[in-house]
Amino acid sequence: MREIKGVVASEGIAIGRALVVKPINFKNYFKGIAFEEVAQEKSLFKSAIKVSQEQIEEIRLKTLKSLGEEKAAIFEGHIMLLEDESLEEEVFEEIETNGKNAAYAVDSVIDRQFIELSQIDDEYLKERAFDIRDIGDRLLKNILGLKVNSFELENPQILVVMDITPSDIAQLDITKVLGIVSVHGGKTSHSAIIARSYGIPSLCGISQALETIESGEKMVLDAQNGMLFIEPSSELEVKYEKKLEEIKIFQERLTLLKGKETITLDGRKVLLEGNIGVPSDIANVLKNDAEGIGLFRTEFQYMDRSAFPTEEEQFQSYKEVAVGMKGKPVIIRTLDIGGDKELSYFDIPKEENPFLGWRAVRICLDIPEIIRTQLRALLRASAFGKVKIMFPMIISKSEIMELKAIAKEEMAKLGAEGIAYDKEVEFGIMIETPAAAVMADVFCQYIDFFSIGTNDLTQYTLAVDRGNQKIEKLYNSFNPGVLKMIDMSIRAGRRAGIETGMCGEFAGDIKSVVLLLGMGLDNFSMSPSSVLKVKDVILKLNYEEAKKITKQALQLEEAHEVIELVTEFLKSKKII
Ligand code: PEP
Ligand code: MG
Repeated sequence: MREIKGVVASEGIAIGRALVVKPINFKNYFKGIAFEEVAQEKSLFKSAIKVSQEQIEEIRLKTLKSLGEEKAAIFEGHIMLLEDESLEEEVFEEIETNGKNAAYAVDSVIDRQFIELSQIDDEYLKERAFDIRDIGDRLLKNILGLKVNSFELENPQILVVMDITPSDIAQLDITKVLGIVSVHGGKTSHSAIIARSYGIPSLCGISQALETIESGEKMVLDAQNGMLFIEPSSELEVKYEKKLEEIKIFQERLTLLKGKETITLDGRKVLLEGNIGVPSDIANVLKNDAEGIGLFRTEFQYMDRSAFPTEEEQFQSYKEVAVGMKGKPVIIRTLDIGGDKELSYFDIPKEENPFLGWRAVRICLDIPEIIRTQLRALLRASAFGKVKIMFPMIISKSEIMELKAIAKEEMAKLGAEGIAYDKEVEFGIMIETPAAAVMADVFCQYIDFFSIGTNDLTQYTLAVDRGNQKIEKLYNSFNPGVLKMIDMSIRAGRRAGIETGMCGEFAGDIKSVVLLLGMGLDNFSMSPSSVLKVKDVILKLNYEEAKKITKQALQLEEAHEVIELVTEFLKSKKII
């Protein structure tokens, strides 16, 4: 048995045989082809463009039907790349000046563009380099008269590839793809996005995949823990077969919950929402039946770039989410950098305690242009759906007032410019510092909603760094100190009559759900893949009973006592 570590591009487990597909070395083909006349080579290129456009349009329509507009737009992008005048100009230049035949000319131009894009220090542009490669390969196959579809799967298999392009995936018989292992690609690549929407388990970044794996070899792909096992031992295979079966049964049962209201046995209704980091995550939110987005972490729009994103760039992302959620609530959090999140182009001086340092709204209030640009983009997006704006790391009323004042100024400016925005847009804060929890009753007078960020609230209440492995066992949101902070905040929100939410990891933990429900939490926002699991628990609970168990839990003195109480309770209800 051989083991290789990889990066999870799309979660899941697959067991099956490998189909290794090595990239075609086009140079072997076109080196031997004679150069015809300039006009003939040019027309060969032009007809390859036309055929390629038709093929991609077909794929676009197929994708539109199966995955919807957002995914189909990837192929609109490909058609635009084909229509790009600079491509034709550069290819013609190679034909005319360097006497290259059409195939050779295309190969040179695509190679050049690929290298240029992949050298830019920007994750997004790097991934777009693969889109260029994708259309380049298609053009070359059409010029050389080669088969366009390179994957011929007979039985369900695990594909092992250099990189799988979106059009490859669109042309595949998905029912025969158990999983994908690739040398290139990343979490934000288009192929990863599409693999996720089809639910194909996928690992990328396995650099030696094409050399070390042979077609026909048995593999276990664990795209939960980022491991690939080649020719697994029979014990390991049996263990994974069992896991796969359990996942299947559990998932099938959970799918039956889609469309059901999230309501307790005695009629208390709550909202289950998803946390996202990039607009394309909405597919997962909708697939898992979340009723909104309780946290859109906007930091990712600022990362892997060489400068701050412009208002227009941000607006496009926020609008995509607002439109995609079709009127369902979308809470977008303003920039939360600092702490453990850095931006390569923005200098945060070295700090002794970065988590207690210059981060989030502290940066935004010191450099208001950052938050002004973001607020304008958010406000503009609010005209396209139910956008709510949330400020992180709040510790004082004055921060709330200053941030809201800036927002009001930007609203007035937009109004004067005749740009649409939602005049009723709601403003909320994250409760993730002890100060915010203790002052929640005061802060609630100035905001429309709040969301408890237990990841940070736990770290700050317990003074335990959330990323420090050495003290990991001290980091526990069931610590009565943290539970009391949560309870205090929810009670303040309920008294003020505002919406109370939670978007920290605690909201998606089966054992905490009963307590949060008992405390009266309205909105639970979590990783989309946890939504149905939590819905399953809530449907089996009784609100009045949850309140009683929560009252008992809040009198306990140690985290382990709380966990034991909840575990016993859930067992008695046959929930776990
Ligand atoms: C939190 O602190 O609970 C939270 C949701 O924010 P983040 O994890 O992004 O800090
Ligand atoms: Mg936080």
